[in-house]
Amino acid sequence: MAAEITQPTDNIIVCNDVHKWFGNFHALRGISTTVKRGEVVVIIGPSGSGKSTFIRTLNRLEQHQRGEIFVDGIELSNDVRNVDAIRRDVGMVFQSFNLFPHLTVLRNITLAPIKVRKLPAREAEAIAMELLERVGIPEQADKYPAQLSGGQQQRVAIARALAMQPNIMLFDEPTSALDPEMIKEVLEVMHELAASHMTILAVTHELGFAREVADRIVMFDEGQIVEDQPPDEFFNNPRHERVKHFLSQIL
Ligand code: ADP
Ligand code: MG
Repeated sequence: MAAEITQPTDNIIVCNDVHKWFGNFHALRGISTTVKRGEVVVIIGPSGSGKSTFIRTLNRLEQHQRGEIFVDGIELSNDVRNVDAIRRDVGMVFQSFNLFPHLTVLRNITLAPIKVRKLPAREAEAIAMELLERVGIPEQADKYPAQLSGGQQQRVAIARALAMQPNIMLFDEPTSALDPEMIKEVLEVMHELAASHMTILAVTHELGFAREVADRIVMFDEGQIVEDQPPDEFFNNPRHERVKHFLSQIL
């Protein structure tokens, strides 16, 4: 038996007083938050406030040094079995699509299901094609990433993450590298995912998306959570001056 799996918990992510240092630099200064299954949480905040670091600690791309993190009932500890179990449960999409340039779109999507989940190639390909339909680009299956637009590449990256059947999807500024006309097509895919009750944590400055899709908006500042509110409250009645200041800069 690998990781200790408890009953499916309603609180799919639990962080208790999470701290992270890079050398002497205190990047996460006591993050405590809980995400419920099916919730959509948008994370915003100034550059350098720890948003990426936080997202990356949730699947161990960064290691926290104090506090506790539980993902789907499994503690994120040094036990590699726990880390593996959590990584299988968590899909991640980055700003820079990170597709494998030497593999076709289809192979990008089937690689992990075949290697990690040991799916037969046929089955993995059938799932990949379904996912390409879902993100709206089935006709691109046999192309290479460089032949696709940025928006198409990001949709492949989302399909690739979904192919592992995660219960949680993490997005770190998925539209920041895209031209305006491509942002919409990626946000539409995220919108559809949210409607399918996927648990989503997304760092994004797309406030229209946040307003429409988020259950909560969490604002980071200097390694701490300074606001955590449903969109209406967040935009209309923020509790902290920092939020007003930040919104005045980006709106
Ligand atoms: P955000 O995503 O909110 O812009 P980050 O989480 O990327 O912020 O970074 C938070 C802070 O931690 C920044 O000051 C950044 O320079 C620092 N930082 C991030 N990654 C590293 C690293 N690997 N080594 C040292 N400092 C880092
Ligand atoms: Mg970042």
